[in-house]
Amino acid sequence: MSTAEAKKCAHPSCRCEAQPGKEFCSEFCSSPRSSQAGGCQCGHAGCEKRN
Ligand SMILES: [Zn+2]
Ligand SMILES: [Zn+2]
Repeated sequence: MSTAEAKKCAHPSCRCEAQPGKEFCSEFCSSPRSSQAGGCQCGHAGCEKRN
């Protein structure tokens, strides 16, 4: 059992789950540069380039 609930990455274009205790799933998403349009490039499965 886990008390930590999986929450979504705060990146608008990211569909990953954030790391426990963090707002984002990756350093990429936590970077201001990641907020630019074009989709998430965190590299996680499910977040690959798709339209
Ligand atoms: Zn992502
Ligand atoms: Zn993310």
